[in-house]
Amino acid sequence: MPASDVLAGLPLVDHHCHGVLLTELDRAGVERGLTESDAPAPPGTTMFDTPVGLAVRRWCAPVLGLEPHADAAAYLAVRARLGTAESTRRLLRAALLSDVLVDTGLRGPDLSSPAELAEAAGARGHVVVRLESVAEDVARAGTTAASFADDFGERLRRASAGAVAVKSIAAYRCGLDLPGHRPHDSEVRRAAAAWLVEGEQEGRWRLRDALVVRHCVWAGLDLGLPLQIHTGFGDRDVRLHRSDPALLADFLAAVEPAGVPVVLLHCHPYHRQAAWLAQVFPHVHADVGLALNHVGAGAPGYLAECLELTPFAKLLFSTDAFGLPELFCTGAALFREAFGRVLDSWIAHGACSTADAERIARLVGAANARRVYRLESR
Ligand SMILES: [Zn+2]
Repeated sequence: MPASDVLAGLPLVDHHCHGVLLTELDRAGVERGLTESDAPAPPGTTMFDTPVGLAVRRWCAPVLGLEPHADAAAYLAVRARLGTAESTRRLLRAALLSDVLVDTGLRGPDLSSPAELAEAAGARGHVVVRLESVAEDVARAGTTAASFADDFGERLRRASAGAVAVKSIAAYRCGLDLPGHRPHDSEVRRAAAAWLVEGEQEGRWRLRDALVVRHCVWAGLDLGLPLQIHTGFGDRDVRLHRSDPALLADFLAAVEPAGVPVVLLHCHPYHRQAAWLAQVFPHVHADVGLALNHVGAGAPGYLAECLELTPFAKLLFSTDAFGLPELFCTGAALFREAFGRVLDSWIAHGACSTADAERIARLVGAANARRVYRLESR
């Protein structure tokens, strides 16, 4: 069977995603979800004129009963008529996901819980705990420099009961150039003191201190759960040059003895660096999410680049969908279509057998995530 046929019917494990908005969205609301920018499209332009915008019209329009490539106005009219609940259910089911691993660090009253998302998708839901959010909760609830490490450890243990992984957004907060050793208790106390004073003054406890972030990451590793790390592009808070996963080399070498899988998320435009890290470090894995949606029709080229160096057992599918259910639908569809095209061309050129292509499709689409996050034991 061609790889594209295998992928067409393969239930996927989405190993990194977020909740969807439960509210009714107008055009501006939908367009906001199609970009990593926090600014609206400049006057006279639209976010539908992007690769992801084209992908929504190509893949989501038929799910809502329209022809592929229906224009944005027609699509939005049908979406509004069906309502958020029904269009969300249709779009999530169309993604054909067996499991969703949900980063619960982004929160809001309008955002679905992991259980709500899983229910709408007809999938099993799993929680991924964001380390920096737990630290900020501890600070907000009231702690001291001396008790921060213990309070964080206790809250993290509670938050991660039943979770499948922890995640760090160090790239957003201090950059990925993390030293290759665990910080000492006295250093953590000093850094926590400065951060807590600053938070008190600002009235919010946004964790940016590199040392406290490092402490949180090491404490997360102590749990023995896989560690996800944001790398590469994201919203405009990220300093792209500090989110290159190659900066993590010392850190990755230092944590290797912990025996915990590390999964580099997103990676683009550094997916080639991530691929190298996944090749040289036994515990390191790479992800194709986020970029998959944003490169749209460019997905075959992007996935082919991911496959240049990454061992096939180290690459994981995800959508990194957030807010819009469309992004689950497009992420899954683009993966199936583009990965199928890449693998079928390998078969056509004699680079691999049909059986090899089928095995690689199953690994990247689902089996690698099942192994890394031990989903079968849950
Ligand atoms: Zn994400």
